[in-house]
Amino acid sequence: MSKKINHNETSSILPSGGWGAIKYIKDVFGGVKSLLTGMKLTGWYALHHRKEKITQQYPDNKDTLILPERFRGEVVMIHDEQNEHACTGCTACELACPNATIKIVTKFDIQPDGKKKKAIDKFVYHLELCTFCNLCIEACPTDAIKMAQTFEHSVTDRTDLTKILNRPDSKIREGVE
Ligand code: SF4
Ligand code: SF4
Repeated sequence: MSKKINHNETSSILPSGGWGAIKYIKDVFGGVKSLLTGMKLTGWYALHHRKEKITQQYPDNKDTLILPERFRGEVVMIHDEQNEHACTGCTACELACPNATIKIVTKFDIQPDGKKKKAIDKFVYHLELCTFCNLCIEACPTDAIKMAQTFEHSVTDRTDLTKILNRPDSKIREGVE
């Protein structure tokens, strides 16, 4: 069954009166003018092959690509040449994260004196949840983590975005408490 058109309804969405029609026509001309301005610039760049083009030719420029210093790509844990890090497993980063991107799994290591000491077992990082807000890095008291500038994170399996940031067989650097 077809719906009967209510003329009061249509008049509320169309410009009403002479002033409404003038505004409508002005908006159309404004839109066309804006489009032509953009097309003029596009056409100019198409005809003038200059070195200082603003658009970067990614991925052709991958070898020379320089990212801004403050670009945030993903959270990583810093390891030195001895495969040592500065993570104590304190969970400050986990608590600071606003969206549960980090899960710290701890264990107890037996010290040479026989005492137990809390240590990190797994630093689980869900890259797919991370908003790169940097709060975890600011919260870390030992500067154990930082932002890396890697950005090609496309995967076909979502679970590949869940990462363990402490490397296999890595351990905490001596003297870090
Ligand atoms: S950058 Fe922000 S969202 Fe990402 S893990 Fe750190 S605190 Fe969480
Ligand atoms: S990365 Fe830093 S804040 Fe997070 S558990 Fe390790 S020491 Fe604590």
